[in-house]
Formats: sequence, C-alpha cells, structure tokens
Amino acid sequence: MKAVLTMDATCVPCKEFPGKWRCLKCPTEGIGPVQPRCPKCNGIVEQRSGLKPSGTVIDLPNAFVLVRQGIADPVDDDCKAMVRRSPEQLRAARHAYIRSTRGIHPEDFDAYDRGLMVGYNADGSHKPGPAAVHSESTDTLGGGEAEPPDDTL
Ligand SMILES: [Zn+2]
Repeated sequence: MKAVLTMDATCVPCKEFPGKWRCLKCPTEGIGPVQPRCPKCNGIVEQRSGLKPSGTVIDLPNAFVLVRQGIADPVDDDCKAMVRRSPEQLRAARHAYIRSTRGIHPEDFDAYDRGLMVGYNADGSHKPGPAAVHSESTDTLGGGEAEPPDDTL
C-alpha cells in the first residue's frame, strides 16, 4: 500500500533519511542512521530525527494512516479504499497535525485557529499570526462602555 507525503515528515534516522547526532560526553558528532553509542568514547548520544521530504512515496501496510493524518495522498487503490474520510475531515486532520508539530498548547488552540498566533517566542509569549494586527483594534472586549462626560455641574 502506497501513499505520497504532501509535507515533510520526521522519521527514525536511517541510511536514506539520516539524522544528526552528537555525543553528550565528548565533542564527537555526525550525520547518519541511528547511532546507538558514540563510536569514539561509547558515550550516550543525543539523536535528531531524520526527515522524509514532501513527495516521498511511503510503501507500508498502514500507509493510509498518513493520509488520515492529513500529511499524504493515496497512491494506489488499496490505500484509497482504506482512507474513508471526507475532504473536510482530511483538511481538519492536516490543520491539527501542523498545530501539533508547532507545539501549540490546547489553551491556545482557539487563538491559533483564528490566526491570532502561530507559535511561541523563547519567553513563551505568542508569535503573532496574520490576524493579530487586525484584532488589536477589537481588543477592548470587557472594557465596558466609556463613562459619559461629566456635564452635571
Ligand atoms: Zn563520545
């Protein structure tokens, strides 16, 4: 069963899709498949994911799951038959997948979905989204009505 990625996807580093690694004990580092231990000192290594670029054909018995996640299109009839999702559901899945890879906290889902923010700065504040500038003019909710001018004297 085949599906083709419609966006880049992380994976376990292998020969074809290598990842970066670096030793936590000595300054050795490299790029390649999963590195169980540092080849120089046998120390524990920190491993980065490999990356399968958009357009990569995935041939797996459960490739339809990638389509259901909204990150791939079916290539063969087997895959097409297993998807069983509407285009709206697939668009929603893709939106949720991207939101998840950006690390958006559930409390911020609404702000993200409305385009008010796209992620976080290092200090945890929101990176403004395309709708953020527009919203500032309407950001007076809860402010109440302005006090009437004091003309009683
Ligand atoms: Zn080492």
